[in-house]
Amino acid sequence: MNLLAAIGFFFLGVLLGTFLPRFPFLMLSRTRGFNTKFPPHPEPIPLSPHLTQRVLHMRMFYWMSLVVVILPLGLGLASVRWGNAAFGFGLLTSSSWLVFNRLQYFVGGMAPPWTRDMAIQLQILANEAEVSGGCCNWASPYWGVTGVYCVNCKAKLSNMPRPDLGRKRRERRPLGFLYLLFTDGYSILSFFENIPSSEEE
Ligand SMILES: [Zn+2]
Repeated sequence: MNLLAAIGFFFLGVLLGTFLPRFPFLMLSRTRGFNTKFPPHPEPIPLSPHLTQRVLHMRMFYWMSLVVVILPLGLGLASVRWGNAAFGFGLLTSSSWLVFNRLQYFVGGMAPPWTRDMAIQLQILANEAEVSGGCCNWASPYWGVTGVYCVNCKAKLSNMPRPDLGRKRRERRPLGFLYLLFTDGYSILSFFENIPSSEEE
């Protein structure tokens, strides 16, 4: 195997090891049937039990990658041992990177893009809008890119930036896909401001 082919196989392995574990969050919720309860991307989403549930689903898909990653890890080990070593190293590199990336949260790293706290906070805001004494009499909170605000009185209810919520993205297919791979579901704002998801006034 010449060097060029080896490099090609290595990157093929990296690609596959990057894509496979993220498959649940990249693909599972993007079909139209899954998103009938939500306005199309990138419009703000009204707070509702559907939204709360979606955040919890995305959180599940996020952690599911730690299970799915066993596939490229195993395939990588088998390839190094019996098959194409370059391909196997590519798989091992990207899939073990994913494992470290997911586990860094437990040693004080960045919180995942979707958390239980986030879902709870959304539900609390939705409940507050239901009862009187919220921001205004006809409170209707929506989750926009930069936070939760009321469309009736324009009050900002939370600074929580909105992560990807599994809707089909507005960008054309390869671009939306690359964007998701690059951001891993985080709101692009969370990279600049570095605010945890629990900021609320
Ligand atoms: Zn209001």
